[in-house]
Amino acid sequence: MRISEIHVYQKQLPIIGGPYTMSRITLHSIDSTIVKLVSDTGLVGWGEVAPLGPVYQPQHALGARAAIYEMAPALIGQSALAPLLLRRQMDALLTGHNYAKAAIDIALMDMIGKHHGLRVCDLLGGAETERLPAYYATGIGEPDEIARMSVDKVDEGYRRIQIKAGGRDVAIDIAVVHKVWESVGNRAQLVVDTNRGMTASQAMRLSLACRDIPFSFEQPCNTIDEIAAIRGQIPHPIIIDESTESLDDLLRIISMGICDGFGLKMTRLGGLNAMATVRDICAARSIPHTCEDNWGGDIVAAAVLHIGATVEPRLLEAVWTSGIYIEENYDPVNGIKVDGGHFQLPTGPGLGIVPQESQFGDALASFN
Ligand SMILES: [Mg+2]
Repeated sequence: MRISEIHVYQKQLPIIGGPYTMSRITLHSIDSTIVKLVSDTGLVGWGEVAPLGPVYQPQHALGARAAIYEMAPALIGQSALAPLLLRRQMDALLTGHNYAKAAIDIALMDMIGKHHGLRVCDLLGGAETERLPAYYATGIGEPDEIARMSVDKVDEGYRRIQIKAGGRDVAIDIAVVHKVWESVGNRAQLVVDTNRGMTASQAMRLSLACRDIPFSFEQPCNTIDEIAAIRGQIPHPIIIDESTESLDDLLRIISMGICDGFGLKMTRLGGLNAMATVRDICAARSIPHTCEDNWGGDIVAAAVLHIGATVEPRLLEAVWTSGIYIEENYDPVNGIKVDGGHFQLPTGPGLGIVPQESQFGDALASFN
């Protein structure tokens, strides 16, 4: 089976109740890039990458499409059954741009699953569970608002609440953390995520002002070195998210011993197979982590669930998809939905979702 066609689509995903606000960005919608692979046997595989705007990380939507256009002509005719060889082929065509390569990797795994009649989670080693715990991220807000939201979500069944912080007076963030803790207590695991939004001194101030509140501090500062500087000076466990741009970053962070867990974005790292490698590296050091992605529709969400299901339960902190913020499912029947703070793993072959192609309009580019 060989790749015979590659089609690239774009879909704008409006954010329900938007804008969504984080320390450095405010977004009303997400620009998603969707990849459709077609094999010479007529099978179709779907991939997707949807950077969280152009500022969250170095990845951006136009960059994803440009990178795919750069690689696509040379991928026609390549084996559709060899994801490792395809990754090496992509690396030979373009340096970096893991996020664009991820969309092709996901599409290929969807196609291989359909070819063998297996789910992607089975191709990745087998599912530990059919029901995955989700976490809820609050966005930036005022103390009473965020506390009320957190209580509602815990009542719904979420067991991990991520409080967004940063980009404003630290005193307000400190008040938010106290209010959420008073309201939720030990009913949920709390995480405070600044999305690179604090200086080292601000992060230390927040942590020390909340020293009696159990939470994990996610990406408190912009760089690995800044985080290394506050490690040892604050009482809270540290999770690193945005600074894991590659396997090399991940190994460097682990060797520095500066965190207690990771927030892992699948497309940032290069797709499902890269995430499987990271999963195994984390297992070797008993490092807990999430499985998530930036944003996106059902394709990204299904892929996140499939890799998340293969993680040892003791190490899987939670999964996250942007589905609750997106109005429509690509697959109206099997689309990914959160229920009681949990996701159900799709049951069909490949990713287990069948996108309604008409939603994507005409292809921006096609290669064959
Ligand atoms: Mg994060």
